[in-house]
Amino acid sequence: MSRKKIVAGNWKMNLDYQAGISLFSEITQMLKDEHRGNQEVIVCAPFIHLGALNKLNDVKEKLGVGAQNLHQADSGAYTGEISGSQIKSVGGKYVLIGHSERRSYFKETNEILAEKVDAAFRHHLTPIFCIGETKEQREDGSYFEVLKAQLEQSVFHLSSKDFERVIIAYEPVWAIGTGLTASPEQAQEVHAYIRKVIAEKYSQELADSISILYGGSCNPKNAESLFAQADIDGGLIGGASLKSRDFLDIVKVYNS
Ligand code: PEP
Repeated sequence: MSRKKIVAGNWKMNLDYQAGISLFSEITQMLKDEHRGNQEVIVCAPFIHLGALNKLNDVKEKLGVGAQNLHQADSGAYTGEISGSQIKSVGGKYVLIGHSERRSYFKETNEILAEKVDAAFRHHLTPIFCIGETKEQREDGSYFEVLKAQLEQSVFHLSSKDFERVIIAYEPVWAIGTGLTASPEQAQEVHAYIRKVIAEKYSQELADSISILYGGSCNPKNAESLFAQADIDGGLIGGASLKSRDFLDIVKVYNS
């Protein structure tokens, strides 16, 4: 089964306006020079960058721009928030939903995330839906249940027609920004499980068509062995996406 291979960067709350433009320009140039294959590249940037990056993007067939969050309402009195239609209006194509930093620091529950997923669909944004267990949940063995509940409560209400557009990112919380990476075997075990749960809910065919990304201290040294696993279809990259060379070296794992 050939699924879409995807490498997505998450800049988090880094880079002021000029620094974002510089990094993005380096990435587009390197993609022109070095990207050889069908892998899709995504940059999820802070809101302030989205319009400028979209205008700068002259490799749209390879590279898409996304946001890191959206509000569940379409407009209104939500001071400081950003809606799906606003993201769409500056050329955003993707949106991260359910990142563990949003779940823990901003108290986004599975129920709120389900509303955000619906908002993304209303505005034709592709959700990159993140799930992951904490260190405690891995150690006490409850991680399969936790991951299943995250899917059931936030994305399994979607019709199969909508669900087939979702990108899933498995990001063990204990591996995000810690320098600790899930081993290829640990990640593969979970990715295969996620695919099984999707097959049970929808169909094997649909499960086989969904891209499931790994995230958590992924870097140019470990990307190859992670991406070689049967059920891993790419990565969601935090720290290493802030360095154009490292990011491109990860993208190039999929060069043909
Ligand atoms: C992330 O924030 O999605 C992430 C995976 O971060 P890092 O690569 O820095 O662990």
